[in-house]
Amino acid sequence: MTVTRFAPSPTGYLHVGNLRTALFNYLIARRQGGEFILRLDDTDPERSTRHYADEIMRDMEWLGLTWDRVERQSHRLDRYKEAARQLRDISRFYECFETPAELDLKRRTQLNMGNPPVYDRSALVMSDSKKEALRKERGDGHWRFRLDHARIVWQDGILGGVSIDAASVSDPVLIRGDGQFLYTLASVCDDVDFGITHVVRGADHVTNTATQIQIIQAMGATPPAFAHHSLLTGPRGEALSKRLGSTSLRELRNNGVEPMALLSLMVNLGSSKPVELISEPDTLWKNFDLSNYGAAPAKFNADDLGTLTARVVSSLDYAAMEAALRAMGVPDDVAPAFWAVVRDNSKTRAHAEDWWKLCRDGADPLIAPEDSEFVATARSMLPDQPWDKGTWNAWTSAVQEITGRKGRGLLMPLRKALTGRAHGPDMGRLMPLLQTVKW
Ligand code: GLU
Repeated sequence: MTVTRFAPSPTGYLHVGNLRTALFNYLIARRQGGEFILRLDDTDPERSTRHYADEIMRDMEWLGLTWDRVERQSHRLDRYKEAARQLRDISRFYECFETPAELDLKRRTQLNMGNPPVYDRSALVMSDSKKEALRKERGDGHWRFRLDHARIVWQDGILGGVSIDAASVSDPVLIRGDGQFLYTLASVCDDVDFGITHVVRGADHVTNTATQIQIIQAMGATPPAFAHHSLLTGPRGEALSKRLGSTSLRELRNNGVEPMALLSLMVNLGSSKPVELISEPDTLWKNFDLSNYGAAPAKFNADDLGTLTARVVSSLDYAAMEAALRAMGVPDDVAPAFWAVVRDNSKTRAHAEDWWKLCRDGADPLIAPEDSEFVATARSMLPDQPWDKGTWNAWTSAVQEITGRKGRGLLMPLRKALTGRAHGPDMGRLMPLLQTVKW
């Protein structure tokens, strides 16, 4: 059975980059009738919080990315300890005592000499007595996995054939000096134990994948199929900082972005398909195919999100908006007509409230000096309320006759005077809804 996982660390909010990973793994599982696991990579007790774990789940629920079960790495520390013992028993694990400053100095020296900054394995050849002395002086060391210096190859679901020389990679640290298990060890144990068949993650994990393949093999298991999607950049190719509030899912949700708009954008980004609105969640997985994605960075443009959201909102029928309109205070007898008029001009669901405030309270008229005489004439001809769907046409025709203005020069100043803005719904349909005129 296909089993995938999404493995965020609960040390921050999810952002659009994580979402791509979550979505791809979710879609693979759904497409193949498999299992999708939400794995919380919370081995770092200082940085992982309950709050972030809850928020991650909330974001995923909002998007409908439902998981079949949750696993927490913090609950599996005994298993990691056992795996470490196993690796030590087969001599693939060794203790090192370098301080971060020493490692940094080694790295800089290597770089200065034009060499890749790969750990020199000096701890591997250190005598036991020297290690004992260092342990006394510095406390327990950190533990590295000894890579087998061969080429590591795999067929990547997105990148195609990948081949990495293990000698160009540092032996990965799997346990810190303070005993904390690091992501790499925990992740491979989990992938093996949970029977993960496919792992999709960002291209920043390619080197991790190389080392993880060897660790999994050292544990006597078969690595899953790997695929590495490209990283997201801003519209001009600039780095998309995850600290940017506007790319956190929570922020997008609070800004009224619609789940299907976000999912539609994410599933098409970086693929050979054009960005288009997908209205049925099932279509997402039915059409999903990893081979449609390329290795080039995918450009994320928040404007696309706005356009797609507006399209979702304009497609919402009254029943979908009824509760929201009631919460905005739109009376039930007016609400269906009101929604029919403003839906195409509502950028988000919440934006409908702006239109409701306009209808209920009116707006300060927007009158350019050169139009003041014209609008004063028009004002004197404005029929008394109640207005109906023929009022706008009848009134503007009469004003045209008297003033000689026509087209935009006639209609725009009147729209601005009545609504205080240059854009909005069809005036013929809006006018009957205007309860207050401040003009
Ligand atoms: N917690 C890791 C991350 O967020 C998981 C990477 C993986 O998928 O293995 O980068």
